[in-house]
Amino acid sequence: PTNINTLSNEYLRLSYHGLRSKDKSFNAETITHFDEELPLIKVVPQDIGRVLLNIFNNAFYAVNKKQKTAGEGYKAEVSVTTCLENGQLNIWVKDNGVGIPAGIKGKIMQPFFTTKPTGEGTGLGLSLTYDIVVNGHGGSITVNSVEGEGSEFIIQLPIV
Ligand code: ADP
Ligand code: MG
Repeated sequence: PTNINTLSNEYLRLSYHGLRSKDKSFNAETITHFDEELPLIKVVPQDIGRVLLNIFNNAFYAVNKKQKTAGEGYKAEVSVTTCLENGQLNIWVKDNGVGIPAGIKGKIMQPFFTTKPTGEGTGLGLSLTYDIVVNGHGGSITVNSVEGEGSEFIIQLPIV
């Protein structure tokens, strides 16, 4: 039985400090809205940890990329919200980064698809995420994004 809030916090820190150690100019506000009543759920914690790490890495990368070109007024933000809805545990990760162009949205879950320079991305994160969430845990992933504005990834896991 896993506490998704605790797991999210752990991987948020790991992800933030991972990027920060590579890029000292990286700075973002991380906002969490954790539902404290969230039930413990039966998952493989290392697998869901990997999912969270990849989603958070992508979100911090996207805001960092935007920060490099946006003006003074831009404030990088990544928020993580957890809640229970219709018997599903939802993890909602929202960023105000570069967003995903409509033309590539259909490809981001494909293995080896990446828009990152060599060494910065393998293109395997979201395909692994899909495999773990959908095939491994019977859950689902929803992606919404507006190019230039930001993205949101919603992971739904059944309570079993
Ligand atoms: P990688 O991170 O190695 O590129 P992923 O499978 O994790 O591989 O992501 C694939 C692609 O999806 C990324 O290269 C990027 O173009 C896009 N992407 C994923 N998450 C985001 C996000 N939060 N904001 C903008 N683009 C994203
Ligand atoms: Mg990734």
